[in-house]
Amino acid sequence: MTDKYNHFYYDDERCEFVPVVYSTKKRIINSFSFWVINGSVLAIVALSLLTKFIGTPAEIRLKDENRILQEQLSNTTTSISTLEDELQRIAQLDNEMYRTILGIEPLSEDVRIAGVGGADTYSHFDFYNEDTSELLRSTASRIDQLERQIGIQKHSFDEIKAYYNQNQTRLRNMPAIKPANGIIISGYGMRPHPILRYNRMHEGVDFRAEVNTEVFATGDGIVTFAGRRGTFGNLIEIDHGFGIITRYAHLSSFESGLRTGTEVQRGQVIAFSGNTGRSAGPHLHYEVLVDERPNDPINFMIADISPEEYLMFKENDNGGSTVSLIE
Ligand SMILES: [Zn+2]
Repeated sequence: MTDKYNHFYYDDERCEFVPVVYSTKKRIINSFSFWVINGSVLAIVALSLLTKFIGTPAEIRLKDENRILQEQLSNTTTSISTLEDELQRIAQLDNEMYRTILGIEPLSEDVRIAGVGGADTYSHFDFYNEDTSELLRSTASRIDQLERQIGIQKHSFDEIKAYYNQNQTRLRNMPAIKPANGIIISGYGMRPHPILRYNRMHEGVDFRAEVNTEVFATGDGIVTFAGRRGTFGNLIEIDHGFGIITRYAHLSSFESGLRTGTEVQRGQVIAFSGNTGRSAGPHLHYEVLVDERPNDPINFMIADISPEEYLMFKENDNGGSTVSLIE
């Protein structure tokens, strides 16, 4: 009987517990309130757990956005790396090719790096967590560095252009083409000597050339030697002024009328290649001397080789990768 009553009150007069009898309407309201209150509490607990471990919808959106931004920034650093490499290549060409040929002092590494000194320019990124701060700092500093280096490179090219305009005579005289239409079969640098069988400096480059292939003057100048000279065989020497001399060796014959004192122009045929002197096969040996010291002739073929070919040859120089059978 008492089972159906949930609530009692104590009746002082009767000295006993008396069940409270609710009307049906009240019972419905009580029961409804119970579920509303409990349901609400449960919902609040569930929601706070959800937001604690997953986040609010706004937080989830921000997290997504943050992830995408981080990814984009990472991609940007890859692009920066590509630009840095490209700029490095341009700087190398500038120094080793253009400046060397024109006789302009190469820019020092210090100048090119254009370091930024002083206070920490990027401290405002410290506000963020360590990874983000580091990524933002490094990206910002690399972009700043690129900007400065590009400025220096542009300035350098302006200098080269001005030099070119003021030194057209020197540039006409400067060796700037290949002395024969043939591939280079042996580069400048140390190599095992094909006949003497020990490592020796190869002071020029060798071009593949059948006997009687045309040989060109590589810059304007005056012939200072045309005749036989020891291991060179038949040799032509041209003085280009400014301390620059070119040599063409192992020739089979000279262009008719050409002798010591003849003025020649770049591209003019001066001789025909051969196999005279100490030579193990027909080829043209070509040297460029600056102030009586041998230089890598690759640096003096600016008009005939692409920057890519130039860098390829430079990489092979002194590396012993070009082992030739001929001197
Ligand atoms: Zn040679």
